[in-house]
Amino acid sequence: MDQLQFVDKEIFEAIQKETNRQQTHLELIASENFVSKAVLEAQGSVLTNKYAEGYSGKRYYGGCEYIDEVENLAKERLKKLFNVNYVNVQPHSGSQANMGAYRALLNSGDKILGMALDHGGHLTHGYKLSFSGQDYQGYFYGVSSVSETIDYDEVERIALEVKPRLIVAGASAYPRKIDFKRFREIADKVGAYLMVDMAHIAGLVAAGLHQNPCDYAHIVTSTTHKTLRGPRGGIILTNDEEIAKKVDKNVFPGIQGGPLMHVICAKAVAFKEALNEDFVEYQKQVVKNAKVLADSFIKLGYHVISGGTDNHLLLLDVKSKTGLNGRDSENLLGRVNITVNKNTIPNDSEKPFLASGIRLGTPALTTRGFKEDDMKEIAKLIDLTLSNPNDEEILEKVKQDVISLCNKYPLNY
Ligand SMILES: *Cc1c(COP(=O)(O)O)cnc(C)c1O
Repeated sequence: MDQLQFVDKEIFEAIQKETNRQQTHLELIASENFVSKAVLEAQGSVLTNKYAEGYSGKRYYGGCEYIDEVENLAKERLKKLFNVNYVNVQPHSGSQANMGAYRALLNSGDKILGMALDHGGHLTHGYKLSFSGQDYQGYFYGVSSVSETIDYDEVERIALEVKPRLIVAGASAYPRKIDFKRFREIADKVGAYLMVDMAHIAGLVAAGLHQNPCDYAHIVTSTTHKTLRGPRGGIILTNDEEIAKKVDKNVFPGIQGGPLMHVICAKAVAFKEALNEDFVEYQKQVVKNAKVLADSFIKLGYHVISGGTDNHLLLLDVKSKTGLNGRDSENLLGRVNITVNKNTIPNDSEKPFLASGIRLGTPALTTRGFKEDDMKEIAKLIDLTLSNPNDEEILEKVKQDVISLCNKYPLNY
């Protein structure tokens, strides 16, 4: 950034402050990660200058020969990564990918059945304040109140009752493996399409640590910026040629204009990184770290939703142990440089705005190099903070320990 500081001091300084925040805080938001410098460079490249409406070889603008090279590379790498036949790398975000996928398969007013937002689902899975609950009729399944995991027999019962046109599997706050094969059987039984939104777990799937939804779903969507560790964006994947054609039409010109070629360029770089053997090692460490973090909280006497985790995140019931709600826990942890988000827990007694839990994820810290022993220490620091909300001395001490931990694993930006 050799120009920005002279052209726009205010923005330059805000970016400096944000860089410093990222360096000195423990990032435990499960949907975040730190991209490589190569991904940053690609996204900051001259590709941002180019209009490229259309697809490779069929553009509405001249001068797209190198743009085509970039988009083709992104697509070929993505197909290889998930062993799938057709992909669209143009959606600007995960939500746009879902919109493109729904439009490819549904008519407005059709019924969709997704996971309830307060049980771990996403806004775009039929919630009434999202386009998905306005353009389509949203119906929901949740987790069992006993096991706090998806009860597939119950999903089947609801599906038989609702008769949706499409079932959505996938979540934003679900700590367990999802059985996509079983979801497909349910979809087939009721004559519905199965869409899997693997936004959170795409990196785990790419590394072979989770069942690959492309083997079971009619259509798969994802973000590229969570466990997959790429730039912010969306993708759509399918093995069905007819669906693939509809997806392309519905993304452009259906819901988007010119693709963000600088972002697609950065996606290509991230997919290449994800095809490397060290990406598999990274994802294994993400899962190990999450397990140790969950176990540490269980040992400290917390209720961890579903009793643990199979993936990169866990849901911690803070209210039952500390009396603090999720919002106050999030704020308090923020004061000691620990970044988390409040989250509802299954059958939460608090309103979503307050919530009884927090969601913790390990993808970002694992990228920095944090290992199992660090997770044990982080659990202790979080517990110390939440158990002593009014003890300024303890909070200051925790903050210093957090900064030391961050200094141990510097971000190389
Ligand atoms: C994050 C997420 C999305 C949305 O992605 P955006 O890029 O924020 O629009 C969609 N679905 C799931 C399951 C997610 O976790």
